Amino acid sequence: RKQCMKISTGSKQLDTILLGGFETMSISEIYGEFRCGKTQICHTMAVMAQLPREMGGAEGKVAWIDTEGTFRPERIAQIAERFGVDPEQACDNICVSRSLNSEHQYELLDVLAFNFCSGEYRLLVIDSVMALFRTDYSGRGELAERQQALGQFLKRLAALAEEFNVCVVMTNQVQSDPGASALFSGTDGRKPVGGHVLAHASTTRVLLRKGRGEERVAKIIDSPNCPEREATYIITNGGISD
Ligand code: ATP
Ligand code: MG
Repeated sequence: RKQCMKISTGSKQLDTILLGGFETMSISEIYGEFRCGKTQICHTMAVMAQLPREMGGAEGKVAWIDTEGTFRPERIAQIAERFGVDPEQACDNICVSRSLNSEHQYELLDVLAFNFCSGEYRLLVIDSVMALFRTDYSGRGELAERQQALGQFLKRLAALAEEFNVCVVMTNQVQSDPGASALFSGTDGRKPVGGHVLAHASTTRVLLRKGRGEERVAKIIDSPNCPEREATYIITNGGISD
């Protein structure tokens, strides 16, 4: 039996509320308003995943589906330096695919399945999971169709995570809906897009928001095994930190 592993986020506080970090063999979602650090957490984890187990890593390679063109090798190099890793090697261990539309995003999973067969991959980043689905399917009329396509994508994704012992971390956008405040307590009505289909697929959901000054706050939402706690973190040159 495969043993699941935890991959550190770079922040001790955030790792603590996640009981060690984000897990392999499951899908985690980080969502929140713009500039709260979703993409920065992904960059940090892409380096962390390569580190030895005792440093919070999984000694693995990283696959990255970039839907918004926001992957930055320069950031990887800076974060690698913080952890004493060769910047060039850190970048070489990250296989980035730019996804052009939602259909292409689905097709990329075939490529990943092929690559994952090597057994070396431990992290898959999808930044962001909903962006292309939202542009490809517009309006209420296409919502059912969108959710069906999304469901197929996520089903395949969950199977990959399990089969290859990979941690899937996907970012998501928020839809501000003050009417939802009552339903999503303590979230000020900020809820992730993607509806029930996405909610069902993500095992761990973390809501990010801006705090005081440079501080950012992460909160675990609806986790089956972690209590709903908050952690603060900051974004530094070396990635996510306390
Ligand atoms: P979006 O929804 O727009 O994709 P996001 O949640 O992905 O937003 P990020 O791009 O992860 O946001 O974070 C942007 C923030 O990270 C900005 O506030 C920026 O100042 C900060 N940041 C980026 N690089 C550095 C760095 N080298 N040092 C410190 N802070 C940085
Ligand atoms: Mg981003």
